Formats: sequence, C-alpha cells, structure tokens
Amino acid sequence: MPFSALGLSEPLLRAIAERKYSAPTPIQASAIPAILHGRDVWASAQTGSGKTAAFALPLLQRLSAAPRRPGRFTRALILVPTRELAAQIGESLRRYARFLPEPLKTLVVYGGVSINPQMMALGGGADVLVATPGRLIDLLEHNAVSLSAVSHLVLDEADRLLDLGFSAELGRIVALLPEQRQSLLFSATFPAAVEALATGLLRNPARLDVPAAPATQPDIAQRAIEVDAPRRTQLLRQLVEDAKWPSVLVFVATKYATEHVADKLRRAGLNADALHGELSQGARTDALADFKAGRTQILVATDLAARGIDIAKLPVVVNFDLPRSADDYTHRIGRTGRAGETGIAINFISAETHAHFRLIEKRHGLSLPREQIAGFEPIQTEVPAPPTGGIKGKRPNKKDKLRAAAEAQSARVPRF
Ligand code: AMP
Repeated sequence: MPFSALGLSEPLLRAIAERKYSAPTPIQASAIPAILHGRDVWASAQTGSGKTAAFALPLLQRLSAAPRRPGRFTRALILVPTRELAAQIGESLRRYARFLPEPLKTLVVYGGVSINPQMMALGGGADVLVATPGRLIDLLEHNAVSLSAVSHLVLDEADRLLDLGFSAELGRIVALLPEQRQSLLFSATFPAAVEALATGLLRNPARLDVPAAPATQPDIAQRAIEVDAPRRTQLLRQLVEDAKWPSVLVFVATKYATEHVADKLRRAGLNADALHGELSQGARTDALADFKAGRTQILVATDLAARGIDIAKLPVVVNFDLPRSADDYTHRIGRTGRAGETGIAINFISAETHAHFRLIEKRHGLSLPREQIAGFEPIQTEVPAPPTGGIKGKRPNKKDKLRAAAEAQSARVPRF
C-alpha cells in the first residue's frame, strides 16, 4: 500500500518523499488512517517500527486543518520518558511539517537544562509540545503553560514512562486535560500497569498490534560468544578491528563501566566515548551527536541508550554486559537492524552469565549457538545459577527499586 492511499495531505506526502520512505511500515499503515479519523489508538509498537511518523504525520494534518487559538495554549501534547527521545521527536515533527502551508510551532521541553528559555518560548503557546513529565510539571507550577486546550495527547513509550516512575506525574498532567480529546498510547510492552493506564486514558481505541519485535526480526543476526570476563575488552577490540564496523554501540551495566571500557579502548588507539545518565545534558547530547555523525566509532553506554534512540545505519550492538531483563534485550538489540537495514547483535557470555543468558533466550524462544574466537577461548568454568534464579538474579539495585516503586504505584493508578 502506498502512502498516498492513507489519506495524508499533499504537503505531508512531499515531506515523506523527501525522507525517501517508499512505503508505510505496518504500524503506519494501520495507525495513520485511524488517527486521521479521530480515533483513540492503543498501539503496541517498538522503536524502529516507524511509530514516530505513525502518530506525527496524522497529528500534523489534523492540527493544520483545525482552527488556532491565540494565547498561551498548547494544542497537542506528546509525553515521552527521556530527553533524547523528546529531542528526536521534535526533530521528526519539524521535518514532516516542512511543507505545510502554515507553519506549526513545535516546542521540546525537558529537564536537566535551564527552565527560563523554555518558559519564554512557551509564552505564545505551542501547536505541539513534546515534553518529559517532570519538566512539564515544573512548567505548570510556574504557570508557563496551559493544557486546557489540548485536543491531542500522545504517550510514547508508555511502558518506559511507568518504569521510570512517572505514574504520579502522568496522573497530574492528564487531570488537567480537557475530557474531549484524542489520545494515542504507544508502548513496546503491555504489562498490567500499562494496560491500566491505557484503559483509563483511551476511549474506544483502535487496538493495533504490530507483531514483529526487533528481537525476533530476521534482519538482526544474533550471536553469543563465550569469553572470560577480564578479556572482553580485548576481544571487542579484535572484533571491531577485524570487521571494520564504522560504528559500534556497546552496552555495559554501570556508569563506571562505560568510562572504564571507553578508556581502555581509547588507550588501545580506538575512537571511543562513554554515555550514561550522570553526564550533564550537554555532554549526553554531544556524545550522541558525535556518534550519530560518525565522529565517534564506539559508544559505550548504559541502558540509557537502549530505548527510543534512533541511530541510522548502526551495523552492530554488543552486549558487553548482558541486559538485566528480556525486555531490555529487545530494546538494546533493536538499536541495530532499523528501518529495513540488517544488523548484528553480539552477546558476550562469561562464566557468571551463562545461566542468565539462557533465561533471556528462553523468554525470546531463542537458542543461539555458542561461539568461541581463536585466542579467546574461555578457561573459567560456568558458575551455577543462584538458587533463587529469576531473570534479574541479582540484588535489587536503584533501578530495580524504582521499578518496584513504579509498579506499586501503578497498581493504584487512578482512572483518568
Ligand atoms: P521510529 O520507530 O519512529 O523511531 O523510526 C525508526 C526509523 O525508521 C527512523 O529513522 C525513521 O526515519 C525511519 N522510517 C520511518 N518510517 C519509515 C518508512 N515508511 N520507510 C522507511 N523508513 C522509515
């Protein structure tokens, strides 16, 4: 089915042609007509599925067709879990809106940067406001924004919003929105808390399920390489040098490990940088921009980079440390093999992590052959699984506790 069959206006079709999208992705084919018809939407869609365009294009069309209201009003509100995703969606909106006869004002607001410029920018209202919940609450408390004329609400990566403990903020924000509105909810996964949120928020929604998760898409070749933990950096270096990948995203478990591994790679003469949540917003933006532009070859990151971030033509993701959960695995490896490209996901398996990786495989119905690389054959033997087992299998860290709190909170999620 071509884009022209979906009911989109000529200026939007022009922007799509400019992006060189030849056909809609499955989520676009199903969501665009439903949204244009004014339906609420409940969509299970991963990043990489083209979901941004799936809501952005019809939203822009509806906004440009509807009358404006002068003043400090916001017409469409897009709530997202992270600053990076907010910036990325803002960029996409501007691209898709390029040829509209009357410009639409899009603003992106998030925390970690000064609030004053955002307050100033919001002075004249916005057609589309892309926001992280915490900063939006701050702006509301400063009376810098009015949500009383919001006609369209999008919750993107709703599962992640709840994971990060934004349930209370969402409740406060949604309570300020008009009853009469179109609401769209996108989520990669639908645990009970997200179901409850969706049920409370959406009216007679079109339920759209895009079956293929990145983890199960055939265009990501998944590999499991056995290696002793202390030799992982050396192995990584050899793999990168042999394959000559132009860019490599490496996931590790901690902030410390990002710096440590990046540092070791740099000392070995490779071009590597670290990305984690405790860098300043400016440093995060720079690290990501350098990687996206090819100025950094290897980015060593925590799970911060696992969700929503779109890095064009990323050939390979390496799980230097395994992800804690099967869902995190999906998100991490979904950074590669995007938009029809092929990708490689490499997992390093060492004595302590065999059992954990088997659990991840089980969740995804996978059984990857174990590889060994000449010169890196492991000498350490498998450590038996802890008696309690469980996919996380470790003492709860700060993130686990946050999640648990988020889950406890969402069990009490109010009906919006
Ligand atoms: P998203 O899932 O929204 O993060 O989009 C993933 C990537 O797919 C982005 O780089 C988009 O520019 C790209 N994309 C979105 N729609 C299409 C399409 N119909 N054809 C090809 N690429 C697309």
